[in-house]
Amino acid sequence: MVIVDGNALAGALAEVLGPEPTVIELRCAGCDRLGAVGLTTVYRTAMGSVARCRACDTVLVTVVESGEQCWVGLPGARTMVSALLR
Ligand SMILES: [Zn+2]
Repeated sequence: MVIVDGNALAGALAEVLGPEPTVIELRCAGCDRLGAVGLTTVYRTAMGSVARCRACDTVLVTVVESGEQCWVGLPGARTMVSALLR
């Protein structure tokens, strides 16, 4: 085992997020369904956006833009997966 800081994840995170993040697939913690971000149901308000699972309505992604920062939460996504861009 090697212990390093979070910068070691840069390559993997860049690979997963990639240039088209809507094709990333999220595993729903509520129903175990695997589906693309682009196929979720998104509710937008002035405060931010919430993406819900189409199968069980679990909140998968939250996005809040505040000033010059963007806060992204994945409260109901167990994992995320995308094809490697190699
Ligand atoms: Zn679900």
